Amino acid sequence: MSIERTKGQLVGAVSVLVEHGVSLDEIYELVNEGRREAKVIVPAPLAPAADAEIEFGEIGPEGYSNMRKIRQSDVAACPHFILVPEHYREDGTCLCDDPDAPGMAEWGYEWNGGRWAASGEES
Ligand SMILES: [Zn+2]
Repeated sequence: MSIERTKGQLVGAVSVLVEHGVSLDEIYELVNEGRREAKVIVPAPLAPAADAEIEFGEIGPEGYSNMRKIRQSDVAACPHFILVPEHYREDGTCLCDDPDAPGMAEWGYEWNGGRWAASGEES
């Protein structure tokens, strides 16, 4: 759900509450309650974990296979944030510096002699 949509829902909810005679002080209390709950329930996802992993896999007739986990920090280190597990070596480095990296040309990247660049990107 997008944050803009959630904000829109909040505005809608506030106008319904006001229509029904709920005071702004009460609404303010409700918002504060939500804020306190948010702090209690979701502290972990707000703090980025250095070694958080993204799990990749394939679902087919035989079930779930080819599962591989890539660290978020490795994806963040890729200049193009490529979300394809084969783009990452076992040590977590990515193939943007490998002229033979599979997929890069077909995905529209151009080899500029040192690394794969987005087409039109200054080298
Ligand atoms: Zn890369």
